[in-house]
Amino acid sequence: MSDYDRTNIFARILRGELPCKKVYEDAFALAFHDINPQAPVHVLVIPKGEYVSNMDFSTAAPTEMVAGFWRAVGTVARQLGLEQDGYRLVANNGAGGGQVVFHFHVHIVSGKQKPRFGRVHE
Ligand code: 5GP
Repeated sequence: MSDYDRTNIFARILRGELPCKKVYEDAFALAFHDINPQAPVHVLVIPKGEYVSNMDFSTAAPTEMVAGFWRAVGTVARQLGLEQDGYRLVANNGAGGGQVVFHFHVHIVSGKQKPRFGRVHE
């Protein structure tokens, strides 16, 4: 139903065609460091499926995948040691929402953030 482009960068990372700095992987999700970090901690979590955006994911993904993905997001945050310090989750949806890579992903960011994330901690 979606116009998913199999040549997008995250699809290529999922297929192992491009490298990434992996921090976590399970049956539902892959997490890796953002190549252009906007904060001391900036990790991307992507589902293992062809979903363009959060709108597509929340509409088309099987319930088990939705649950498994969001559980993975929490697991990654815990694994990164962010339970005490806190963290933000960012999901840009669509070009108008600032999305650049059209494979659904969630940013986990923690620490002082650059203005792109709309909130700068002093
Ligand atoms: P978006 O703006 O779509 O929400 O976020 C896309 C993110 O992907 C950006 O933060 C960008 O830095 C990151 N990114 C783009 N290309 C690559 C890549 O090849 N490897 C990694 N690890 N991150 C990338």
